[in-house]
Amino acid sequence: MRLAIIDRDNCQPRKCALECIKFCPGVRMGDETVVIDKKSGKPAISEELCTGCGICTKKCPFDAIFIVNLPEELKSDMIHTFGENAFRLFRLPYPQEKSVTGIIGQNGIGKTTIVKILSGDLIPNFGELGGGSKEQVIEYFSGVQFHDYFTQLYDGNMKAIHKPQYVDHLPKVVKGEVRSLLEKADEKGNLEEIIKDLELEHTIDRSIDEISGGELQRVAIAATILRDGDIYILDEPSSYLDVRQRLKVAGIIRDLAREKRVLVVEHDLIVLDYLADYINMMYGRVRSYGIVSHPSTVRQGINVYLGGYMRDENVKFRAEAMKFEVRPPSVAWEGETLLKFTDIHKSYEHFDLEVKGGEIRKGEVLGILGPNATGKTTFVKVLAGEEVPEKGEMDKDVLVSYKPQYIKSSSDRTVFELLSKVTDLSSGFYTSEISKPFELDELLGRQIAELSGGELQKVAIAECLGRDADIYLLDEPSAYLDVEQRLSTAKTIRRIMEKRKATGIIVDHDILFIDYISDRLMVFEGEPGVKGASRSIRGMREGMNAFLKDVNVTFRRDPESGRPRANKPNSQKDKAQKSKGEYYYG
Ligand code: ADP
Ligand code: SF4
Ligand code: SF4
Repeated sequence: MRLAIIDRDNCQPRKCALECIKFCPGVRMGDETVVIDKKSGKPAISEELCTGCGICTKKCPFDAIFIVNLPEELKSDMIHTFGENAFRLFRLPYPQEKSVTGIIGQNGIGKTTIVKILSGDLIPNFGELGGGSKEQVIEYFSGVQFHDYFTQLYDGNMKAIHKPQYVDHLPKVVKGEVRSLLEKADEKGNLEEIIKDLELEHTIDRSIDEISGGELQRVAIAATILRDGDIYILDEPSSYLDVRQRLKVAGIIRDLAREKRVLVVEHDLIVLDYLADYINMMYGRVRSYGIVSHPSTVRQGINVYLGGYMRDENVKFRAEAMKFEVRPPSVAWEGETLLKFTDIHKSYEHFDLEVKGGEIRKGEVLGILGPNATGKTTFVKVLAGEEVPEKGEMDKDVLVSYKPQYIKSSSDRTVFELLSKVTDLSSGFYTSEISKPFELDELLGRQIAELSGGELQKVAIAECLGRDADIYLLDEPSAYLDVEQRLSTAKTIRRIMEKRKATGIIVDHDILFIDYISDRLMVFEGEPGVKGASRSIRGMREGMNAFLKDVNVTFRRDPESGRPRANKPNSQKDKAQKSKGEYYYG
């Protein structure tokens, strides 16, 4: 089966002299393989006439065309297309009763499309343009599990409740106090219990437009689980939550699945691993087509995903495996020190911060773990001289480049305008170290306000790394990035720090990401918004051990992939590791 896909965001017929039409051999011989669609003004390719020669793909200056050959058997598995030469989705994951089904896959591979179909917001058309009726869906699935699922969904006998991905957008669509919002959602009468479980006591009487991203996430989760549904779909429940909150939310979602079907899209593999019973992987080509794998157990599914090769479907979906190496502790430091600082004390009217003295090294990545609002950014501002502490001294002045946790997307500038202000976009360093790994070329012409969460995050990281600085402070760079992007971001940041002999300070709550990116670790603790304290900077093993002890969770390494996995509370391994005081990898 041949698919011709035109990426409508990238296709710019006014700027390209229509190379795809000019050079298509079919068109030259007089047939209508590629024509201009009158409505959109963009090309349309006839998949029947296209021979798959690939000339248009090479000639298009904006990488807007893909021609893909897929096994013929998949034809009958086509679930949906958004239009001619548009994205195609193959197969659906089946949300098992009384279980958590996880979906893992790159951004743009079709996860949201699946969420919309399974919640009844989008009626699939099975590739037939203009098609897509509820009757057709029920008939298509006759004789398989989905028949009952869609019959009940469309008859109103199965209620789907959905937590959207971008919680930052919530204040634009809902107004008022958190309490009144949650009271409206409370169909089961357990509001007080959920407020306690999700630690919303300080948030409940505030207005939705003045709470933080982490609070918005917990409010959105509360609004979802308070409702009385049959299938609960949670799209990225972990963004902006700290580690303890992530594991807590994972526990709450697991409890929900004792009675109900739950479907979760999640890129934090530790959370997904802790949360899901089954996993469906998604592969294909971003913005072109997405195929849903058969379900597997969570451990196996994540290992296969990281390995990049699916044996049972004989599909290699990534050139190389992602490996988590057990790095020896970095004892013998022979490099240069960037900055030394003594114990720091900084206080604001309602906030107190204590930081243990230490040194920061050139070329290293320092991971920071700890709850939100415990003074991590204040600490770096003190290092940069932007804030004056009551106590504490640095041995030199340093320049800091900062990416905040919440990124403003309201700018009417283009990505090009934003990035060209901070860096020379024609330099070799920018091209090879920043633009290529973050695939920024294809975003340059887009407006900031139109970018998806993941695209915006990549641009914000690139903007931060593009500046000249001694310290690069990135606050939650993993938010909205998929697994592949998280791991490539980690590699890119490490490489840039080494090359620039600068220091990366990375605040993040994805433990796997922190494990992958950091040379050493700094752990913050305290009462969010009231007081914070940091322990001294330590090696990975020691730092993680201290942090996980605070959170009261033990981790082991998976023997196959080397990735860290959270032990289930009170499991044999959990008890044995706790009794030895070995919270990290036993
Ligand atoms: P994910 O949730 O995995 O990021 P999506 O399901 O949102 O992926 O989208 C997959 C692809 O489908 C997108 O990259 C886009 O090209 C296409 N797409 C999504 N929604 C629409 C739509 N309403 N019209 C046209 N194309 C769409
Ligand atoms: Fe131009 Fe490429 Fe679009 Fe064809 S697909 S019109 S070559 S931008
Ligand atoms: Fe024409 Fe070849 Fe492109 Fe098909 S792949 S549209 S035949 S240039």
